[in-house]
Amino acid sequence: MSNTPKLEDIVALAKRRGFVYPGSEIYGGLAGTFDFGPNGVELLNNLKRAWWKANVYDKENYYGLDAAMFKHPRVWEASGHTKGFSDPLAECRKCNTRIRVDKALAAIGVTADEKMTEEQINELFDASRDKIGCEKCKAKDFSRVRQFNLLVKSNLGDFTSEGNEPVYLPGEACQGIYLNYKNIVDTLQPKIPFGVVQIGKAFRNEISPRNFLFRAREFEQADTQYFVRPNENKEAYEQIKKDRWNWYLSLGIREENLRWHQHENLVFYAKDAWDIEYNFPTLGFDELEGIHDRSDYDLTQHQEFSGTDLRYTDPETAEKYIPWILETSAGVGRMFMAFLCDAYRQDELGGEKRTYLALAPELAPYRAAVFPLLKNRPELVAKAREVYQSLKKAGIVVDFDDNGNIGKRYRRQDEIGTPVCITIDFDTLGETPELIDTVTVRDRDTGEQKRVHVSELKAHIG
Ligand code: ATP
Repeated sequence: MSNTPKLEDIVALAKRRGFVYPGSEIYGGLAGTFDFGPNGVELLNNLKRAWWKANVYDKENYYGLDAAMFKHPRVWEASGHTKGFSDPLAECRKCNTRIRVDKALAAIGVTADEKMTEEQINELFDASRDKIGCEKCKAKDFSRVRQFNLLVKSNLGDFTSEGNEPVYLPGEACQGIYLNYKNIVDTLQPKIPFGVVQIGKAFRNEISPRNFLFRAREFEQADTQYFVRPNENKEAYEQIKKDRWNWYLSLGIREENLRWHQHENLVFYAKDAWDIEYNFPTLGFDELEGIHDRSDYDLTQHQEFSGTDLRYTDPETAEKYIPWILETSAGVGRMFMAFLCDAYRQDELGGEKRTYLALAPELAPYRAAVFPLLKNRPELVAKAREVYQSLKKAGIVVDFDDNGNIGKRYRRQDEIGTPVCITIDFDTLGETPELIDTVTVRDRDTGEQKRVHVSELKAHIG
């Protein structure tokens, strides 16, 4: 049976099993927004926790941060976002559908560089107009291309209703790290090299949000910024690339679904830039995470725009310099989607087709589920609830399910990726004296069952 799902299978399972719902659905939806349901929020939190562990706790010189979303308007000038953070947009003259021109060109094999001027991209587009049809009405009649800025504005602190000095929502999460670099140096005195990490929301007025969580207008980014001495970037960069690649493998992503993509036309300050791409169902390989060697650009810009000295003083030599930065930036939604897609499996178990999520136990919404064999036998339900409560007390996130027959419960738990199901039956209660206080533990991936003593459950679940 095919183990290659289509994107629509993933979206359907995500909805059916309470992982991801379209945003504002009862009002007809709001494009590019998503709500994480009860199972989704668990997977999301587990994913962020695993990422935080790898990037803070497992390292020696990395610090966490949670900076405010709203930032001084000058931040986005210094970062280049108010001027340069745009995508090329054209509108269908027949039905007003908007397209992102670089993506439409890429789909017919024409590469549009993100640094191109409006003039240059118009030339490219004009040369290919006869090959690009509107995805809605199929007409090949588009407006001129214009660069559309992706920053989302707010009226925070503006009581004039004129919106002259908008405070932007973050276009990317990492700016908070640059703003707090000096605070961290002054208060914790870390020695270079050191890293600062943040998981934060980002908002982008994406021209055509699509492909589920892949291109949203509101999403989260998990970012690390590693501050190094000037010119001491190369070795650390290679190590960071390796660590990020291996992190995906350590949580179960199959290596054949990952690949590297090196950027060709680097911005003037960048030393190197690679993306980790994931082979998303239906979409194919596309960007999951960017890993960038950014030299001293970010802190130099903020030093200039803020007028604050952001140089680091070497504690031994008193030498002053602006550190160089090695950045990793991963979309949390894209990671969520990659883990969900990679875990999606279909097979046949006991002569029946089934779908299951082979999620790593540390990512699965529940570590285990506890069932009484029969719902209408109070003694079984009481024992099952006792086992359930004792696992909860031990800090294990565990589900309780007595709805429908055991087969249905297995299927439900398989589809949300619960690694083990524990069934309390009459033997648990002592019907077969030597089996008293033992339960059936069923493995999600193999369907194999074994009897385990209640006192060993915690160790068994891990
Ligand atoms: P793309 O080329 O796909 O628009 P990008 O190069 O603009 O992405 P970055 O600005 O480098 O992306 O952002 C870092 C990460 O944030 C990306 O690797 C991706 O995982 C995530 N990301 C970016 N834009 C979106 C979006 N609209 N929706 C969901 N995740 C996103």
